[in-house]
Amino acid sequence: MKKVMVYFIVCVLSGLFLPSCLENQMADNKRNFDWGKNSAAMVQQLRTYGIKDVRVLKAMSTIRRHKFIPEEYLGLVASYGDHPCPIGYNQTISQPYIVAYMTEKLNVQPGERVLEIGTGSGYQAAVLAELGAQVYSIEIIPELADHARKVLAAEGYERVKVLAGDGYKGWPEYSPFDAIIVTCAPEDIPQNLVNQLKEGGRMILPLGGSGRQRLVILQKKEGRIQKTDDLPVRFVPMVHGS
Ligand code: SAH
Repeated sequence: MKKVMVYFIVCVLSGLFLPSCLENQMADNKRNFDWGKNSAAMVQQLRTYGIKDVRVLKAMSTIRRHKFIPEEYLGLVASYGDHPCPIGYNQTISQPYIVAYMTEKLNVQPGERVLEIGTGSGYQAAVLAELGAQVYSIEIIPELADHARKVLAAEGYERVKVLAGDGYKGWPEYSPFDAIIVTCAPEDIPQNLVNQLKEGGRMILPLGGSGRQRLVILQKKEGRIQKTDDLPVRFVPMVHGS
């Protein structure tokens, strides 16, 4: 009886006071989790935060973000809440706003060849693929690379190529790239990545390793790099392979 009462009170209070992220979390734990509703709420929030590119918003409303979170981490935090979610190995799937912001800034066009450094869960790679890019993604933790490869294929993004390796080397076989997105933070701009960028190509990366970081947008023009500083951010450091 006591249990029923507590449950009732929680239900009533949740309807009245719980913030939407907590509601999402509870929804996440339900058997019939309505991912479409959660995804629509996430996209609506991205709009209010100022994301305008309808292609990015559409891509993010189409992709089943919760599928990219390994089973054992699912439901710990709301998959569609505006925060990073743990994916194991001390890594996270980036916060939806950052994914949307970086993707919008990169202005990816269908058919472009895009390199991602830091595959993690594979979610950002799926967003780029949904925009019609040919995506190459490098992840230094082999188990995460495997997980991402499997989820991407299962979700219909089998054209995304995932390499388990050190992103500092880039992926010379498939270079030059129209665009490069780095989702872990190096101390300095990796020269190999600059070399693998096409003339006119764009690169977005968080710069600053484990210290203060800022998003930086680079463009290659006549062989030279133009650099624009953007938002302060917080990413995991880009580690050096052995
Ligand atoms: N883009 C991911 C989130 C990235 S988290 C997503 O959508 O889920 C950052 C990832 O960068 C981690 O998985 C980490 O292992 C990876 N990483 C760190 N240093 C790296 C390096 N030198 N090369 C490739 N990946 C690296």
